[in-house]
Amino acid sequence: MATTTDADLTAADVAWDVDPLVDGRGETGVDTLLDEADAVAASVAERRGSVAGLDAGQLAALMHELASLADLVGRAASYAQLRFAVDTTDPAHGALLQHVEERATAINTKTLFFDLEWAAMPDERAEELLGDERLAFCRHYLTAARRYRPHLLSEPEELVLTEKAVTGRNAWTRLFSELTSTIEVDLDGDHVSLEEALSRLGSPERDVRRAAAEAVTTALEPGLRTRAFVFNTLLADKAVDDRLRRYPDWIASMNLANEASDESVRALVAAVQARYDIPQRWYALKARVLGLDRLADYDRIASVADEDSTFGWREARELVLDAYGSFSPELKSAAHRFFDEAWIDAPVRPGKRPGAFCAYTVPSRHPYLLLNWTGRRRDVLTLAHELGHGLHAYLARDQGIFHQTTPLTLAETASVFGETVTFGRLLDATSDPAARFALLAESIEGQIATVFRQTAMNRFEDRVHTERRDVGELSVDRFGELWHKTQEEMLGDTVEITDGYRTWWSYIPHFIGTPGYVYAYAYGQLLALSVYRAYEERGADFVPQYLELLRSGGSRTPDELGRIVGVDLADPRFWDGGLAIVEQQLEAAERAAVEAGRVPA
Ligand SMILES: [Zn+2]
Repeated sequence: MATTTDADLTAADVAWDVDPLVDGRGETGVDTLLDEADAVAASVAERRGSVAGLDAGQLAALMHELASLADLVGRAASYAQLRFAVDTTDPAHGALLQHVEERATAINTKTLFFDLEWAAMPDERAEELLGDERLAFCRHYLTAARRYRPHLLSEPEELVLTEKAVTGRNAWTRLFSELTSTIEVDLDGDHVSLEEALSRLGSPERDVRRAAAEAVTTALEPGLRTRAFVFNTLLADKAVDDRLRRYPDWIASMNLANEASDESVRALVAAVQARYDIPQRWYALKARVLGLDRLADYDRIASVADEDSTFGWREARELVLDAYGSFSPELKSAAHRFFDEAWIDAPVRPGKRPGAFCAYTVPSRHPYLLLNWTGRRRDVLTLAHELGHGLHAYLARDQGIFHQTTPLTLAETASVFGETVTFGRLLDATSDPAARFALLAESIEGQIATVFRQTAMNRFEDRVHTERRDVGELSVDRFGELWHKTQEEMLGDTVEITDGYRTWWSYIPHFIGTPGYVYAYAYGQLLALSVYRAYEERGADFVPQYLELLRSGGSRTPDELGRIVGVDLADPRFWDGGLAIVEQQLEAAERAAVEAGRVPA
């Protein structure tokens, strides 16, 4: 291990340079870009009312103008967003962000007519145009933009629905979030937010966890009927919407939004449900580690791994570069650019946004990574993860602005893949069994939270939406029963589900604000793991196909992109591959727990 200086431990000097976004002109460059964008928008606006009559060459020319418009606005917006992210407390950064948003909205409003006129074009004419090679650079984008067509109503009907949603669905959703955000939990006389109380479930002390869980249950009790009423109303509202818009079932509209085929979503859910033994085995092991006969629901996220070592920035960089290099030299040299050319902002600073992200910006520039580096093992994996996003964006840049970004369901492909490769190397390099157990425990709990828990929540949504349609309004007790049942399916008898837990569905915002959304977490994570599994099975032959997948960005549907690496997303066996990776980690954790003396052999 290299000796590390303080600056290396905190990555103090690792700051990004956002000036290339504005050609080195600083803040004044922002308005220069937006002035240019304004001029392009004015030229585009001259085509208002004429989209139906354009031939393929004229449409391609118009799309190139829209691409340059998106590039100009995207550069200005990225510059303002990234400046703001590293120092949110500077009022000048906030003001710049607001300024860009207002100007960008005004500019984009001038070209809105295009989306409407393009959506209104008859199918045969649109297909004829899209067959032209000059439109290849935006073909999938234009096709996807028309995917809601079969579900649109007439213009006056759409207008009424949009206007009435303000006092309908949107108002109910807001009421729900106002109700839940004012929930206060009484912990020994201290009034804390729901979020803070839930975070105590990670405590290593069982008494603390139990007390926190009981206090949360007590805090959820008042207003339960009101929140159930809001939920019922929104379930009915969605049923009406889906009927009017001719969606076959409750999840179809979300699948369409995600560009995920109904078959692939069913295959994912079936595959995960068939492996509920994985979380059950983990919770059985965890009970032994904690010295309990059986976990209760409030024990599930209890901390079992306090071991943590410290990494210097340079050591982490070499480890991650080696991990990418072990897979592909091309990826390694691309990854080098992030470190060598100031595309990363690493240190923790006052006023900086928490967490980590990758900003794609625009394909004419390059992606940026924001981290909050503290030198922990977890941070090394986060670096590998965000770098994966960055490499995906970088490799897909030739797709241009319409096709660089993938749909949500494929967005984690490169990040989770890179993280998994790095995880394997980190694990190989860790000989201390306690440290190995800590590493594995954290990974498995992450997989369970993302893959299994979200799938169980999707099963709950499936039951409540279906029952609201087939039977009618659900009582508080009925919600509780279905919540209990769908959790029990996942947890088996390895976790005791307390009576109090029956009401814990009643604060989850996704069920209310974005029905059907939760499976996307499981989909994205498991897709990436399953693609990684295909690499494990096929070795070096797989690499060129994988790089081709990344280069393809979002130029095709997820199912078509899967075919590039020879996988079929509608086949449950594909998803089994990712689940096998989790199972391997579980087996390694079982061994490490014995070696570390955390459980008897
Ligand atoms: Zn990610």
